[in-house]
Formats: sequence, structure tokens, C-alpha cells
Amino acid sequence: MELLKWKVIKKELLKELKCILEDVERPLGLAIIQVGDNEASDIYIRQKNKMADELGFYFRHFKLDENIKEEDLIKIIDDLNNDDKIDGILVQMPIPKHLDPKRIQNCISHYKDVDGLTDFNAGCLMHNEDCLIPCTPEGIMDLLEYYDIPVEGKNVTIVGRSDLVGKPLASLMTNNNATVTLCHSKTKNLKLFTTNADILVVAVGKAKLIKEDFVKDGAVVIDVGINRDENGKICGDVDFENVKEKVSYITPVPGGVGQMTVAELARNTFKAYYLRKSLND
Ligand code: NAD
Repeated sequence: MELLKWKVIKKELLKELKCILEDVERPLGLAIIQVGDNEASDIYIRQKNKMADELGFYFRHFKLDENIKEEDLIKIIDDLNNDDKIDGILVQMPIPKHLDPKRIQNCISHYKDVDGLTDFNAGCLMHNEDCLIPCTPEGIMDLLEYYDIPVEGKNVTIVGRSDLVGKPLASLMTNNNATVTLCHSKTKNLKLFTTNADILVVAVGKAKLIKEDFVKDGAVVIDVGINRDENGKICGDVDFENVKEKVSYITPVPGGVGQMTVAELARNTFKAYYLRKSLND
């Protein structure tokens, strides 16, 4: 069994990006909008801020009142859409219940949609056209490529169908000629599909959901989940200790899927800059 280490490719990706940024004439601009207070969001935004500082980005964090009106939030997004110094915009989820996340996401210019969540970018991904892709699934594809694990012709089972991870990953895998099965909370007999997987990706958010008997011998297992176990320790969706001996590769949790996502966000900000620049050239 070999561990797939996100940290290794995060380092490579940032190194590559630093070199590219030397030739960019101005700092890349990244704006993050947060609505209300949320401890987890604070942590994620701190990580993104740190990455932005390391790369010399122009970073703006809008922490807005939890009772903000939808129209006022949309006005802020619109101003950022029209701000030439800003290349990437993201709205940190979750947002309060009175706001419609889909409507808000779709107010972001698709050229600045560094989370890849607008309908435009989701549609482009489905049609295998160049676009901004959600960071976590993109990180998973980079991880597999870095470790020379081909996906073409492989049976790939993805557990979890969120817009952020499962669905875009299913498109990416399909576009790369894998045979994809997408499972979710209504899937009957999950084990039937997970034991058929050459590559199993789990993004559910349930501690140790995937046990040893859910995994095929020699499979590649990618665990996206971040949970706390019964002792309050961080763990994934896969029962790592019992599954690890059975598989060829596995990602540990904790071990940095979040860090990798942040590195992909930096790359998406550059991609967004480049896309806009090509329009104006
Ligand atoms: P989500 O809550 O939006 O979606 C969860 C999915 O799991 C749903 O599609 C649901 O149908 C499915 N599901 C729930 N129970 C199931 C079951 N018993 N069997 C099969 N499927 C089931 O979650 P998300 O945003 O995709 O996140 C999933 C996990 O990944 C969470 O732990 C989250 O913290 C983690 N995550 C980490 C990062 C990162 O970069 N650090 C990014 C995104 C998500």
C-alpha cells in the first residue's frame, strides 16, 4: 500500500505557480465573500488568505452581516465583477437560509468564478470545454496524474453527488474515459458499487462510512471526507486503519485535501486572470 500525499503535489503546484506569476504584470486579485459567522468558514478563509499572501495576491475578504438583503449582496458581487483588479470571486458556503445560494453563485461573472459553481462553468465541464473547475475534484485528478494512476478504462465509483465534489468529479472522470458510477444517500446496496471500483472516491461527510468489506483488493481509495471520530479526532469517510492493508493506494485523513483545494484555488485565480486577459488581447 502506498500513501497518496496531497502535500507533495500542493508543493509542486505552488512552485510552478510562483514561477508563472513572476511574468504577470500585476498582483492577481482574489475576493472572498463571507456572510455571517461560521467557525469552519473562518478557518477555510484564513487558509485561503495565507495562500494569497504567500503568492503576493491582492486579497479582499468581505465579512458581511448575516441579515444582509439578497439584493445588497448581489450589488457587492456586481461591483467585484466590474473591478479590473479582481480576477477571482467566491462566496464562502454555507450562507444564511434567507439567501438563495444558486442565485448568488450565478451572479458571479463566469470569468471570475474560481469555485467553478456557476451554471455556465458546470455546463462547460459537462461538455468537456475549457472552463473554471471546482477545486477539490480538480485536485483529485492532479493527484492521480502525479502518481501516474491512469483513469481511462477504469471503473470509478464516487460516493457523494454534491455540486462541489461528486458531480464535477463524475464529469471529469467521464471526460477522461473512466466508467463512472455516482452513488448517493438513496443508493441501494452501496457495497455492490464500491466493491466494483478500481478507483473509489468518497465525499460524504460520515466518519468511517467505508469499511474494509466495501473495498476491492488493490483498489485506489481517495477519501475527501473531513469528520470527527468518537474521540473528537479528525478522520475521513473511510475506515483508514482497516482499509489500508487491502488497497494499492490510499489518501490519509488528516493529510491535506483542504490544503490541496487551496492550492487549486490559487491556480484557478491565475486561470481566471488568463481567461480575461485573452479576451482583451
Ligand atoms: P454534501 O453534504 O454536499 O454532500 C454529501 C453527499 O453524500 C450527498 O450527495 C449525499 O447524497 C451523500 N450521502 C450522504 N449519506 C450517504 C450515505 N450513507 N451513503 C452514500 N452517500 C451518502 O457534502 P460535500 O460538500 O460534497 O462534502 C463531503 C465531505 O467532503 C465533507 O466531509 C466535507 O467536509 C468534505 N469536503 C472537503 C473539502 C476540502 O477541500 N477540504 C472540500 C469539499 C468537501
